[in-house]
Amino acid sequence: MVKKKMTMNKPETASDLLKTLRESLLELQRWGYKGFDCSSRSLEMLKRWSQPYEKPLRPKTDINLENIKADLEGCKRCRLSRGRTQLVFGQGNSKARIVFVGEGPGYEEDQSGLPFAGPAGKLLDRIIAAMKLNRNQVYICNIVKCRLANNRQPQDEESETCLPFLKRQLAIIKPEVICTLGACATKVLLNTKNPLGRLRGRFHDYNGIQIMPTYHPAYLLQYPENKRATWEDIKKIMALLGLPL
Ligand code: SF4
Repeated sequence: MVKKKMTMNKPETASDLLKTLRESLLELQRWGYKGFDCSSRSLEMLKRWSQPYEKPLRPKTDINLENIKADLEGCKRCRLSRGRTQLVFGQGNSKARIVFVGEGPGYEEDQSGLPFAGPAGKLLDRIIAAMKLNRNQVYICNIVKCRLANNRQPQDEESETCLPFLKRQLAIIKPEVICTLGACATKVLLNTKNPLGRLRGRFHDYNGIQIMPTYHPAYLLQYPENKRATWEDIKKIMALLGLPL
């Protein structure tokens, strides 16, 4: 038997080493060498061992808001990551019956890490107080989690990239009502191009959860004449939740 020279590159990982070992045994098996375990069983075992290790998915029972937040740590999935100081994930009760969803953090939210931290947030607090609730009893979040510079709206690509995380938050919280604040949040969650004026004031279905679109508090600060219409929307939410007026 003519002896052949086997060439072997230096393996870099345990997986590479096992792959190389298996290839070498296969070669020895082809050449008819004896004294090595070249059985199909051993070769199959080496193949399995050399598969890259994949992090097991979390059991469904382990998924909570903290896990989702951890999944977003250092997120660079869209260009908004470049302008943020910190992620604004959401705030409030993980078992809230109502979730308020805005479009995205501005300067104050980016600095504090909390949603609706500026003047619009103060108005939202007043709306929540008028419902005889407080921030610890509701949940507040946004379509995108990173700062929108110059108070611009998120672009479609940014909303679409971040939306799965909001959907996961909503799936955990399972609120009875989602109040979308402003046209952007409403259009994204309802996946529609209809204007807010045609959508607000009535409930829409979102996976069995009732969505009530209404005006964004920042818009109400500019156009306070729409506060009355907003209060009518909020009263419908209160009626649905059985909250006293
Ligand atoms: S906005 Fe959302 S998807 Fe984009 S970088 Fe921030 S966390 Fe990631």
